[in-house]
Amino acid sequence: MWTRFYDMHSGGDTKIEGKQVIFIEASEAEAIDIFENTFGHHPDDVACPCCGENYYYRESDSLEGASRFDRRKMTCTYEPWPTYKRIDNPPASMGELEANDEVLIIRAEDKAEA
Ligand SMILES: [Zn+2]
Repeated sequence: MWTRFYDMHSGGDTKIEGKQVIFIEASEAEAIDIFENTFGHHPDDVACPCCGENYYYRESDSLEGASRFDRRKMTCTYEPWPTYKRIDNPPASMGELEANDEVLIIRAEDKAEA
């Protein structure tokens, strides 16, 4: 299982050094514990009451599935104004996802070594 944590920019900033999205290889309940132990704060913490919780999170069967939205977004482009027609690029590869500076991936094996 994989859990995706999406930074909601509560209070205006990403909470973990510019990382927009964090994937943890664990069930949702386990991933929340790993998140808290690793980063020292809870994903349900609220940086700013008008913005709400710091993270939106959800469990998926695979990293491929968990990252589908993010990989689509990475390659999404539009023709310039005035058409704004969407150019349907294939989603970014898993390698491109891993290489993205705004993405952090924590695998179960990384945790075991730590
Ligand atoms: Zn706010």
